[in-house]
Amino acid sequence: MTPAESTPYRAGTVAVLGRPNVGKSTLVNALVGAKVSIVSPRPQTTRHRLLGIASFENGQLLLVDTPGIHREQKRAMNRMMNRAARGAVEGVDAAALVIEAGRWTEEDALAYGALHAAGVPVALVVNKVDKMADKTALLPFIAEVTRERLFASVHLVSALKSKGLDVLVKDLLYLMPESAPLYGEDEITDRSERFLAGELVREQLMLRLGEELPYSTTVEIERFEEDGEMLRIAAIVWVEREGQKPIVIGKGGERMKAISTGARIGMERLFGRKVFLETWCRVREGWSDDEAALRRFGYSD
Ligand code: GDP
Ligand code: MG
Repeated sequence: MTPAESTPYRAGTVAVLGRPNVGKSTLVNALVGAKVSIVSPRPQTTRHRLLGIASFENGQLLLVDTPGIHREQKRAMNRMMNRAARGAVEGVDAAALVIEAGRWTEEDALAYGALHAAGVPVALVVNKVDKMADKTALLPFIAEVTRERLFASVHLVSALKSKGLDVLVKDLLYLMPESAPLYGEDEITDRSERFLAGELVREQLMLRLGEELPYSTTVEIERFEEDGEMLRIAAIVWVEREGQKPIVIGKGGERMKAISTGARIGMERLFGRKVFLETWCRVREGWSDDEAALRRFGYSD
């Protein structure tokens, strides 16, 4: 048997699930090898379902990054985020259940139960092992989590430091059906550059605004044009109340400038070319509970 016959090309879809902030988007980026999904220390950074495409020599993983399911159902945005997370499980070949090393909660147990009942093979991804001072505590922790539960495989990883990911890829590929590549091998996501540009501005809002304000903001890309070698992009930061505008803009426009610069650097890195970015802040009262406004801003479920 030649090596090519012993390792057939496999390709399929993996839902990346888990509580907010366990590192799902960081993991997707690490596997794709590019920042397709934004990351911040705050929960609910990811608001949209997004496909990260990771291509390897003998296969391709379509990683579905999801907003973590959360309990607050008050606003239309949260309801749409929950539907996006649940919908991500339909038709997948496997799931990666991401948890934080040393923490297993009722929500994790529920997610496992739902996947197991649906017949989806689950790879347990214990992330952030770099943060655990006492590594000897990991074994009893894993023994406890895997007791009376059936995981396709168990992985100790650090998505942040790209540790433990080679074996994870190998085991996930093994769960995929034999298939030709489903996307071009140079593609990294199913989302447009325009969408990614908006996300990179939103990431800066998550990183630079304190307390509750990031949850009252969203970003609309008003213009996205090629101009020779460079991209001309105009972004609107939407807030919900007039009083929030000065906070986003900051003293003398300092904060808005920092947001704009941070987002531009991220865009230039991701798109591989020069970007000219303009940003404005505008008010639209109640956008986060207005389904029509949400759809216009690119939200879907
Ligand atoms: P998500 O909400 O599950 O998508 O989580 P994110 O990917 O947005 O990550 C949440 C926070 O955890 C961010 O501050 C990440 O930098 C951090 N994080 C993610 N993976 C790791 C890891 O392996 N180790 C450490 N120390 N931090 C991580
Ligand atoms: Mg995320």
